[in-house]
Amino acid sequence: MKAELLSIGSELTAGQNLDTNSQWLSLRLAEIGIPVGWHTTVADDLQDNIDAFRIATQRADLVLATGGLGPTLDDLTREVVAKVAGVELVFHEASFEHIKELFAKRNRPMPDRNRVQAYLPAGAEVVPNPFGTAPGFMIPIARDKETSPGDSSPCLLFAMPGVPSEMFAMYEQQVKPRLLKPGLGGGVQIQRKINTFGSGESHIEEKLFDLTRRGHVPEVGITASDATIALRIFARAPSLAEAQAQIAPVEAAIRERLGKFVYGVDDEELQHAVLRLLDDKRKTLTTAESITAGLVAHRLGQIPGASVWFRGGIVAYDNRIKAELLGVPQDLLDIHGAVSAPVAEAMAIGCRERMKTDLAVSTTGLAGPGGATPDKPIGLVYVGLAWAAGVSSTPFIWAGTRTEIQSRTAKMALNVVRLKLMET
Ligand code: AMP
Ligand code: MG
Repeated sequence: MKAELLSIGSELTAGQNLDTNSQWLSLRLAEIGIPVGWHTTVADDLQDNIDAFRIATQRADLVLATGGLGPTLDDLTREVVAKVAGVELVFHEASFEHIKELFAKRNRPMPDRNRVQAYLPAGAEVVPNPFGTAPGFMIPIARDKETSPGDSSPCLLFAMPGVPSEMFAMYEQQVKPRLLKPGLGGGVQIQRKINTFGSGESHIEEKLFDLTRRGHVPEVGITASDATIALRIFARAPSLAEAQAQIAPVEAAIRERLGKFVYGVDDEELQHAVLRLLDDKRKTLTTAESITAGLVAHRLGQIPGASVWFRGGIVAYDNRIKAELLGVPQDLLDIHGAVSAPVAEAMAIGCRERMKTDLAVSTTGLAGPGGATPDKPIGLVYVGLAWAAGVSSTPFIWAGTRTEIQSRTAKMALNVVRLKLMET
């Protein structure tokens, strides 16, 4: 059993909109154990759509198409599917009534054009749309005996609206229950993501080589994104409990071997970990940011309830601001330069004292592209941390663009706070 996701729309192939429907649907199908073999995106062109639907319905057992169900002339999916199935479009009275009703409820006259949305390929089963006018539909498409000689079962095709909110509702309420009927799905497939920061990909791989090797059950993959390295554990089993039982010991082994590098799971970011620890230890935090220009504060502020422990911050780009607002001694700036360990520490100390918090974290560095000196390369950064009993600074040299260096330095600052909170 393999599925193909077919996204229709010139706004997608033109690069104006990202095909997020396929991403979302792939995750949903994985949850019910249906592997996805293909993502196809096609523009609003009749022949290209016919080709794409033909190919998909010949090679996949299940096709979920989104888009092209609107009332306008570029909405071709009904017509295309009728052609591919070799049937006529027929008028569907109940869907027409639903469309008329929706317009009546909103007190708007129904444009004539919307009538086309009630025409569906003969033999299709209507899949009601809880939140919009366009009904979806489901239709089995026979496979070509010559191209798929071994497989006589038809491909099951679902056509759904492109608007994400309508599609989500239709999938959850209408499509998923149909897919869960016996004979379609193959148990469950779940994944667990373990997020790490502070160690390189190859170091992590070295520590986990026996788990990440090909053929390991459950499968463990490593992905690196913006200096965060994530381990993904994929488990497939007849039931959710069995899939979870596959994941648990592998997750425990990863956590044990990677120790403090692990900061969270699934969608958790470093800022979640920091705020959770601040809350556990009842400590307050402020930020003094040069190179990251407020990014550390911004990320903390994204988390609901951040203000309980995160008190504020200063963006101190210019040396005058570092001196006047953070109290960094002028001679430190003159002797060591703004990008230095003593200045990172003085920024953190000044921030903590002036803003009266338990902890203060600072960032300074060279984001580039210009401004390198013989002893200070682009990407050189220092993160300072001040707490009641002391101060520290952590140097690092990042590679990457300005945006990447800033983003990674912000992560590094959050990680420095996290590690300190774990010690206390
Ligand atoms: P349609 O059903 O083709 O009229 O699509 C309506 C709107 O839904 C489009 O203008 C897009 O904004 C959005 N949309 C369509 N397909 C997708 C997709 N695959 N991923 C994300 N958004 C989409
Ligand atoms: Mg469209």
